[in-house]
Amino acid sequence: MGIKILPPDVAAKIAAGEVVERPASVVKELVENAIDAGASTIRVEIQEGGKRLIRVMDNGSGIPAEEVPLAFARHATSKLASIDDLNRVTTLGFRGEALASIAAVSQLTLVSRPASQLTATRIRLEGGQQKSLSAAGAPAGTTVTVENLFFNVPARKKFLKATATETGHIQRVVTCYALAYPHIRFILETDRRLVFQSTGSGNLFDALAAVFGPDIARQLLAVEGDLPASGETGPARVTGFTGATSLHRGARDQIILFVNRRWIQDRALNQAVVQAYHTFLPVNRYPVAVLNIEMDPAEVDVNVHPTKAEVKFREPRAVFKLVQKAVREAVLASAPTPTLTTPTLSPDVFHTGHAGDFRPRQTAFPAPAGPAASRFAFEAQRPADQPDDSPSPGLPDGQVPPLRVVGQVQQMYIVAEGPDGLYLIDQHAAHERILYEKLMAQQAQAGAPRQQLLEPVLVELSPGQAALLEAEAEALAAVGFDLEPFGGHAYRIRAVPQLLGQTDPTQALVDILAEMADGATPLARETHQKVALIVCKRAAIKGGQTLSYEEMRELVRQLEATSAPRTCPHGRPTMLHLSAAQLAREFGR
Ligand code: ADP
Ligand code: MG
Repeated sequence: MGIKILPPDVAAKIAAGEVVERPASVVKELVENAIDAGASTIRVEIQEGGKRLIRVMDNGSGIPAEEVPLAFARHATSKLASIDDLNRVTTLGFRGEALASIAAVSQLTLVSRPASQLTATRIRLEGGQQKSLSAAGAPAGTTVTVENLFFNVPARKKFLKATATETGHIQRVVTCYALAYPHIRFILETDRRLVFQSTGSGNLFDALAAVFGPDIARQLLAVEGDLPASGETGPARVTGFTGATSLHRGARDQIILFVNRRWIQDRALNQAVVQAYHTFLPVNRYPVAVLNIEMDPAEVDVNVHPTKAEVKFREPRAVFKLVQKAVREAVLASAPTPTLTTPTLSPDVFHTGHAGDFRPRQTAFPAPAGPAASRFAFEAQRPADQPDDSPSPGLPDGQVPPLRVVGQVQQMYIVAEGPDGLYLIDQHAAHERILYEKLMAQQAQAGAPRQQLLEPVLVELSPGQAALLEAEAEALAAVGFDLEPFGGHAYRIRAVPQLLGQTDPTQALVDILAEMADGATPLARETHQKVALIVCKRAAIKGGQTLSYEEMRELVRQLEATSAPRTCPHGRPTMLHLSAAQLAREFGR
């Protein structure tokens, strides 16, 4: 095939694809336009996750009648006049691409009236083609209605996710902007139901309460930090709120960052926030934070990403330090002094015995001299980087022989001996495997056992969490949750999975929702499994937990009986094996 220039309609659809990935991208662009137009109220309505309809209404400046058709021309913008303006962008839009792109892949109607005009202008486009243009009656401001997104791009339409998933993305966009612009009143209606509104009071704390609910808002600490101007950089300032150490989540998605009130994704700055909590949060737990960085627009390039979601700082390291230091200070000011817990082997957890002797014994080793000694003991035993290449002879694939427990290392690994050498078992991964098989068996029979709460617990969810809960109610019930709607986004927890009987029900539910949101999957069977996995992960004994000899023996016995004892249900190994031959080789025997 020779080189050809694409026909304009094909080129337009491809260009639109850069900007419009899913319904939430449309909402983002339209909300940004409304903010740039100086609106004080922005109302977003969607139907079927925005796949059927997206409507964004604002009371901003409006578009003069004679400019309305021009707004849909590619590279038509009122926000940038020369290339120099690109160095000091203060509006959210600047490329003049969004309206053209959205119109190219949908059926779009815009009605707009500047306050100074008596009549509004109404324009309709389908697949980028203007279908009508007329005068109309309307309040001052702009309303854009986008119907049947991707009606003319079937390949894109196919990739849209379930309504609940797309709704979740849209909620995230609207709530994030509500946090960035507390003085604007945001309203979100999905399928004619009001699911979110902020007050527009101008107070960030009010917006936080609207987005996260009052419980979480109360656990947020104010952040404030300044970076003075230096030889290379202008001044910068970070403000916002970050969670107390009592508040943490299973994913990083509650770290929300803005630069000059533009919502951005930045892995390094995310990491700066996470690092600020070093030693304060349990492993694999992440903070909640909402931060805005203000700086001279010349210090940050906003024109590096198709959807403007990423930016490039002139001095990224300075910004990283500013954020990390400010968050750390807020956390330190409120938190107790961190104690570094260095795992040590203590005599009562390290039992030893001789081959053939299965009874627990009193310690045969003196207590190690301290952290260094225990680390040495651990390193010496760990078959680092050695693949498990020697399955025990005579066993079906993946099974393990009967093991004799020797002891526990680092409150994390069980040392055991088998007929062919040494085994190191990850106590958490092993327990996950056991619980998962048990739960799956129970689900297949009478249903997972649940634990009734003596008093139902009332939990106030965010709109996103509530939507997810509704969408996955069946999977949550299958693992043992009994949840009752209590008006708005409140629910009563009446029972929890028996596996989670020991934990705080609210925290458990919120964590599970957070993990589910992380890559929601539309297939029911998969969702059921995913929820089961999350519950088992939560219920399993953790690293850092001292186990008695009997507990270890029971764990190993149950692990041996599972169908796949060598891997945890997430597919990671539960054990490492160091064969007798490897040992002999290593010791030069
Ligand atoms: P950009 O925002 O990059 O300028 P858009 O394609 O999003 O590009 O919009 C094109 C132009 O249409 C804007 O520059 C603005 O003048 C006008 N416009 C779009 N939406 C609105 C709105 N809600 N209120 C007022 N003017 C708008
Ligand atoms: Mg725009």
